[in-house]
Amino acid sequence: MTAPRSPERIEYERQYRADNHARILERAREYRTLNRDKVNQSIARTKSKNPKKYLDAIKDWQRRHPEKNAEYNRGYRERHPDRAKEAGQKWRAANPEKVRAGVARWRATPNGKAQNKRRWCLKRGLGGVSTKEIAGRFDLFGDVCAYCARRCSTFHMDHLVAVAIGGKHEAENLVPACQRCNLSKHKKPWRAWFRAQPFYSRKRERFIELVCSCT
Ligand SMILES: [Zn+2]
Repeated sequence: MTAPRSPERIEYERQYRADNHARILERAREYRTLNRDKVNQSIARTKSKNPKKYLDAIKDWQRRHPEKNAEYNRGYRERHPDRAKEAGQKWRAANPEKVRAGVARWRATPNGKAQNKRRWCLKRGLGGVSTKEIAGRFDLFGDVCAYCARRCSTFHMDHLVAVAIGGKHEAENLVPACQRCNLSKHKKPWRAWFRAQPFYSRKRERFIELVCSCT
């Protein structure tokens, strides 16, 4: 039996660990590299003797290292695409409610909404626009409303020629609009509506004509 450590010794060791954190980690890494079999055996022992402890340790690590975990998962999927696909299918079959909730969460995001719209329009032959193209349209207008030039927190993607009156869901028919303009314009022909607004500007009308094919 080893003799119990004195309080001074305990304090000294605590201080040593605090002062040499990087060195200790480096040494542990070295040990694991040199003694891979021993380490694996020890992990396997814990896994069979105390599976809950083993799983908890993994979950704890995943919680503390979300980025490394995501990177590891990405690597795993690349190395074992078939296994990853199979595991995914199994998980989805076992968790239909979580899948539905996840899809609903994605659909509520701006990208999810854009993708929905794209699918809906592609199906009906109304064209399709990618989320990247939509981001490009925002850039083009410098993140202000195409009509009133207001900067606001939430923009709508406005179909310059409304889909209801024959406009296509294509990049050249999309302009960013503030909610007020988007709702006010609705299905009206854009030029007539724009010219009737107090913030009408000939310059902005020209710019819209320039960047939109379907005027
Ligand atoms: Zn506006």
